[in-house]
Amino acid sequence: MAKWVYSFGDGKAEGASAMKELLGGKGANLAEMANLGLPVPPGFTISTEVCTYYYANGQSYPPELKDQVDAALNHVGALAGHVFADPENPLLVSVRSGARASMPGMMDTVLNLGLNDVTVEAIARSSGDERFAWDSYRRFIQMYSNVVLGVEHHNFEEILEVHKDQKGYFQDTDLTAFDWRKVVASYKEAVERETKKPFPQDPREQLWGAISAVFSSWMNQRAITYRRLHDIPQSWGTAVNVQAMVFGNMGETSATGVAFTRNPSTGENALYGEFLVNAQGEDVVAGIRTPQNITEIARIAAKSDKPSMETVMPEVFNEFVRATQLLERHYRDMQDMEFTVERGKFWMLQTRNGKRTGRAALRVAVEMATSGLITREEAISRIEPGSLDQLLHPTLDPNAEKIIIATGLPASPGAACGEIVFSSDDAETLKAAGHKVILVRVETSPEDISGMHAAEGILTTRGGMTSHAAVVARGMGKPCVSGAGAVRVDYAAQTLTAQGRTFSKGDVITVDGTAGQVMEGAVPMLQPEVSGEFAELMGWADEVRRLKVRANADTPADARIARQFGAEGIGLCRTEHMFFDNERIVAVREMILAENEEGRRAALAKILPMQRSDFASLFEIMHGLPVTIRLLDPPLHEFLPHTSEEIAEVATAVGSTPEKLKRRADELHEFNPMLGFRGVRLAIAFPEIAEMQARAIFEGAVEAQAKTGRPVIAEIMAPLVFSKRELDLVKARIDAMAEAVASETGVAIPYHVGTMIELPRAALRAGEIAETAEFFSFGTNDLTQTTLGISRDDAGSFLGAYVQKGILPQDPFISIDVDGVGELVALAAERGRKTRDGIKLGICGEHGGDPASIAFCEKTGLDYVSCSPYRVPIARLAAAQAALGHAARSTA
Ligand code: ADP
Ligand code: MG
Ligand code: MG
Repeated sequence: MAKWVYSFGDGKAEGASAMKELLGGKGANLAEMANLGLPVPPGFTISTEVCTYYYANGQSYPPELKDQVDAALNHVGALAGHVFADPENPLLVSVRSGARASMPGMMDTVLNLGLNDVTVEAIARSSGDERFAWDSYRRFIQMYSNVVLGVEHHNFEEILEVHKDQKGYFQDTDLTAFDWRKVVASYKEAVERETKKPFPQDPREQLWGAISAVFSSWMNQRAITYRRLHDIPQSWGTAVNVQAMVFGNMGETSATGVAFTRNPSTGENALYGEFLVNAQGEDVVAGIRTPQNITEIARIAAKSDKPSMETVMPEVFNEFVRATQLLERHYRDMQDMEFTVERGKFWMLQTRNGKRTGRAALRVAVEMATSGLITREEAISRIEPGSLDQLLHPTLDPNAEKIIIATGLPASPGAACGEIVFSSDDAETLKAAGHKVILVRVETSPEDISGMHAAEGILTTRGGMTSHAAVVARGMGKPCVSGAGAVRVDYAAQTLTAQGRTFSKGDVITVDGTAGQVMEGAVPMLQPEVSGEFAELMGWADEVRRLKVRANADTPADARIARQFGAEGIGLCRTEHMFFDNERIVAVREMILAENEEGRRAALAKILPMQRSDFASLFEIMHGLPVTIRLLDPPLHEFLPHTSEEIAEVATAVGSTPEKLKRRADELHEFNPMLGFRGVRLAIAFPEIAEMQARAIFEGAVEAQAKTGRPVIAEIMAPLVFSKRELDLVKARIDAMAEAVASETGVAIPYHVGTMIELPRAALRAGEIAETAEFFSFGTNDLTQTTLGISRDDAGSFLGAYVQKGILPQDPFISIDVDGVGELVALAAERGRKTRDGIKLGICGEHGGDPASIAFCEKTGLDYVSCSPYRVPIARLAAAQAALGHAARSTA
């Protein structure tokens, strides 16, 4: 016969914690605690298979269920010394839902079930406490009517308020048994009025009503939404737990509470929790009365004048402490527990692995591994790499008061505050004058890069998680809230309006890019800490990972951060990003707009020394680690002058007229810059540009080598290549320049020439390209754009629908599209290796810092990932987890 019901209690259970799928999390852990010999009120779990049956059979139950429930109920009664529905010696139970994963949206627990007009008198007699009996009955009527019958709470709250007013009472504890009797009578009237039926008096009807309510709640809208957001399959179903009641509301020697074995916000190894004397169920979290601390140390720290559990019930306290230690050792993780004390006897009602902040997760994992409770590998696997983000940026002090003026997308983590500015120029000017600023724009464009650099944080009113502002801010490690649609920006008036209030340039705001919130004023913050447990865990991760982790770094400042965070080289230096500097951009524009080679060479001569010193300091900072430099890949439109002022500025610099320059700029206008005159195409048309860059690289390397005494490893790559021939042409120029610099300086710099793989054709022809290329760097941003034919900058309007409708599993610009782009990467890797054994393979772009994409890189056997400096620790951890075969979740 099929088994639908599993009993627990009295030191044994039919279930165990390994049976979460069948019994749900709560039921499995209740069984486990019973097996461990901990005091657990007896009860039974109706399995998740009943839930599945219920929905497969028109919301009906398996025929054997009723008998199995009756038998289990008798067993519970026998253990507890009571009989369900008995008028003299009634058993009261709680009915608790319990899915595999803890799930808000499911039915709330009903306590004290089995009470009616008759059994309440029996309870009053047996307990010798009439007030307790009627207090329990009124709680039951309210809970059951609300949860099972759908009667709203206010119906009951009003009755209680009126009663208290009439009697001149302030607190619930002022009510006597007689008062609660009267309240109960009014409650029942209210239920009859609202439901057109009397409150059910038959305990069996009550029980099946509650059980059905749990199963029905699996399909309510809140639960469905929660499952969708958290990827919980519908098919899992929920279990129902029915358990003998124990009473925390039986007077001064009774209590109820919740506790964690360690502090869930700091991770400190100290019992942490709260309890209330003479209370039941959710009273502790309901906030009606102020709860008391459990330990004396916590009470003193909290400066509470209410005695701790340690002092008011020392024996129970000791027993509880032993139980918590046992549970933590047994589950080998921090536990979150619920307990009740009935007349000096202590009972465990729940345990589960506790939720914790990123900071706490790190400390708990490291301390548990250090003490030998878990292995280092387990410690590594327990930290969600993305959660490190919280620790790498300043965060808002959780205790600080904040007035939220707008919300948007959490585009780039961390918090920052500063004065509002509406333009890049203002950001730079004020920053130079020592101010901290927040750059507020409708949306950002490449011209805002320098302003974004100068700002502490960025706020945009338009654009999604992969908008320009979001991508660039993440790369820079700057907090950013994007797409705050309710904020109105008025550039002319230099104001922003949010929630009917107007803020002007210079007013201070705080942006929290982790939560996607904007606050008024300067909210206090906590600074990141990368030493201590963080460093410890990173060290362990480094020991197990195979993939190398490099950083995308364009400037010396980026490179320094990258090294601080443990980067093992630069995987991508985008040389055009070195040009956004105000002074340089004129020279770059001059080069782009030059009418002939001579003009171009003149402009290049101005750029050469700047590039040389940039490269020299990058090499110096990286101190012998590999540095991959990408030849100029300018999306031309980002560099062309737009305003007449900008055009005039360039005209003066080159001694030309604005009209002429304007005409040249118009000539260079492109309809589709993403697929236009960029990448290696530039070096093909104007080889002198690649030559200048190669010279700057080799001369910079000579300089750095002389300074540090460490050999430089220079890797030069061409972007947007799709044929071997393109690379051959560029490589010839680089080789020639290497020789020239070597003979001029007498120092030969070792170097490698490789290519980006960022076009499908390049992936397909990888075998041939590898004849020339000494390494491949997969530029998965462009490869995603060109493989899916989706422009990242224009994807905002439809990508959401694609993900929602399940066409794409997630945003392919955040987590690599394994099926499509991934296949091209794997294929190119294979073809490249066939031609050149051991060809070095890496990935750069946003995906290099995404744990799921990193897992893909591990599987494909790439040599390294390269990501923005701030994501280097995340990538190190994710690479370690990938090496351990731990399933990764994307950050998308
Ligand atoms: P949740 O999943 O929302 O925490 P629970 O089923 O754990 O719901 O129930 C909430 C609270 O109700 C428990 O923390 C406990 O205080 C109380 N409770 C549940 N079952 C019992 C019981 N058998 N006896 C006493 N209190 C109970
Ligand atoms: Mg609850
Ligand atoms: Mg609970």
